[in-house]
Amino acid sequence: MSDRPITVTQPFLPPLEEFVPYLEEIWKARRLTNAGPFHQRLEVALAEYLGVEHIALFANGTLALVTALKSLALSGEIITTPFSFVATTHALWWSGITPVFADIDPKSLNLDPRAIEATITSRTTAILPVHVYGRPCDVGAIQRIADAHGLKVIYDAAHAFAVRDSGGSVTRYGDLSVLSFHATKVFTTFEGGAIVCPDAKTKQHIDLLKNFGFADEVTVRTVGINGKMNELQAAFGLLQLRYVDATIRRRQEIDTLYRRALESVAGIDCPLLPPGITWNHAYFPILVQPGYPLSRDELYHRLREVGIHARRYFYPLISEFPMYRNLSSAAPASLPIAHNVAKRVLCLPIYPALDLEEMDKIIDIISGIG
Ligand SMILES: *Cc1c(COP(=O)(O)O)cnc(C)c1O
Repeated sequence: MSDRPITVTQPFLPPLEEFVPYLEEIWKARRLTNAGPFHQRLEVALAEYLGVEHIALFANGTLALVTALKSLALSGEIITTPFSFVATTHALWWSGITPVFADIDPKSLNLDPRAIEATITSRTTAILPVHVYGRPCDVGAIQRIADAHGLKVIYDAAHAFAVRDSGGSVTRYGDLSVLSFHATKVFTTFEGGAIVCPDAKTKQHIDLLKNFGFADEVTVRTVGINGKMNELQAAFGLLQLRYVDATIRRRQEIDTLYRRALESVAGIDCPLLPPGITWNHAYFPILVQPGYPLSRDELYHRLREVGIHARRYFYPLISEFPMYRNLSSAAPASLPIAHNVAKRVLCLPIYPALDLEEMDKIIDIISGIG
């Protein structure tokens, strides 16, 4: 067993010497940022990998979310899920937009299209769903609602790198999709993010917004922000991309082992994906049901005692944080499924370097043997 703590996820780090030539190239070119050669190469490589035409890179996913909202000039209210990482809603608040929480579907754990429809008002301008754990949202139903009410759709696809359905990457859905390349994600550039854009004109506008609004040396066309990814990040991304399929395959093996071992444990549910989805195995969520001898929190603490840091993603719900809890849509009575899931979910460690012995220890504890 390695002496690293067993956390819920750990980035895959390629051999250090493989990064050295990239550093040498940066030193030689003396380009550190501002759409340098590595930035350009990573955009091309990611577009190719994802099978999309237009992608704009960012310093992190949160800046990408904020810029996506700005690029569509959204205001008023935007419907979103309370069952996500807090950045999803923070991006709205930071943009002066009122988040409106809708409940989730108990099976997919994503926004429930019926709940979306019930929260639309005359102030609603868009829907911000999240592909939670990389599981695709009900994109068809969401688009039909958006079309019927003249709303934009921005997907928080932070978990959905390399997730595909029969038509390709799920990042092609909606008006825009936002990715995160944070160190905890399947594909990482230390910090980083991207917006998948539907056409060249949209990408151009987003590139303007992420670079202070500069059209050229002397022309500032709009009030932009600094959202640029730098050359170190982009170079690391290019190297990381060479390994991403192998790391996903390793994650898939871990997923299979967990599933097989936990299948027979009464009161532990391992949510399944619908058929036809190529998953990235970014997370391994389990639901601790009433039939299990311990509560979710008791199991969480039991694992902590032996150095296993599983995570309660996503507890507390975003709607429970102090800046949001007084919104009328944050009332627990209107979010019963999200509250139930937040009380039961636990994400188990899953990352390429997790070894068999460590996995056995986790499985033994959950099965009540350890
Ligand atoms: C990681 C994450 C983000 C934020 O991305 P950063 O790159 O960390 O800014 C946004 N939404 C979700 C659902 C995430 O998991």
